[in-house]
Amino acid sequence: YDDRDGKIWMDGTLVEWRDAKVHILTHALHYASSVFEGERAYGGKIFESRRHSERLRKSAELIDFEIPYSVDEIEAAKRATLDANGLTDGYVRAIAWRGAGPDMGVASARNPVRMAVAAWEWGAYYGDAKMKGAKLDLSKWKRPSPETIPSAAKAAGLYMICSMSKHAAEVKGCSDALMMDYRGYVAEATGANVFFVKEGEVHTPLPDCFLNGITRQTVLGMLRERGVTVHERHIEPAELEGFEQCWLTGTAAEVTPVGRIGEFSFEVGQLTRDIALGYEELVRR
Ligand code: PMP
Repeated sequence: YDDRDGKIWMDGTLVEWRDAKVHILTHALHYASSVFEGERAYGGKIFESRRHSERLRKSAELIDFEIPYSVDEIEAAKRATLDANGLTDGYVRAIAWRGAGPDMGVASARNPVRMAVAAWEWGAYYGDAKMKGAKLDLSKWKRPSPETIPSAAKAAGLYMICSMSKHAAEVKGCSDALMMDYRGYVAEATGANVFFVKEGEVHTPLPDCFLNGITRQTVLGMLRERGVTVHERHIEPAELEGFEQCWLTGTAAEVTPVGRIGEFSFEVGQLTRDIALGYEELVRR
């Protein structure tokens, strides 16, 4: 994965893929001073590109550093990366972090802020679950309170919980995990937001302690356009039993139907299929 041909944009220039390296004393490696974006290009165009660039800058602010590139400059970096790799369809990973510098301890204000953009081909995030419905485990790990960590940031530190949840799920043969929040309400999957359907109405957790995904917001707009009633609210895990359909949303996951969460099963119903197909059309428009 690291030793291959290709180009990666790093600190303002395109470098060889295999030379895109950082020093072992990189602050982010020790203390998670890193923020990133996951984006997808369709037919040569990144879906909601500017919103992703804006969120990257915002995430950095939320964890106390400023990215030394404007939104326009980040847009140009992403464009250059796709072009240099000859990609029209693929995943784009922009990342900014505190590098190695005089601060070797917890504080990092004197260390340089660095940034990179990589892009590669990436198919369906959950493989054939896209058609059949993904199988999810219930995680024992909880999304933390926004008083514990800035949950609106797409920051590396928040992903330790996701990685551990997903590892446990994969051991049990599941493709992802659903996490509750610090209060015990249903929160999100490890890289995607969650929606439920009951009696023709949609229920989705209020994003008050996890990422309000760009795909989530797009899908809410699609539901509004279709005149579907949506309840953004706190959802108790006991309610899972009563929901008929379920899907996940995320840049990588796109709209993925869920067939099972723990002991509860869901059908890949009409609304789920309609939203999944509608999203596929929208991103290529
Ligand atoms: N939650 C988490 C933890 C994620 O990693 C992602 C993917 N970025 C999402 C939700 C969905 O966000 P988006 O739709 O902006 O990709």
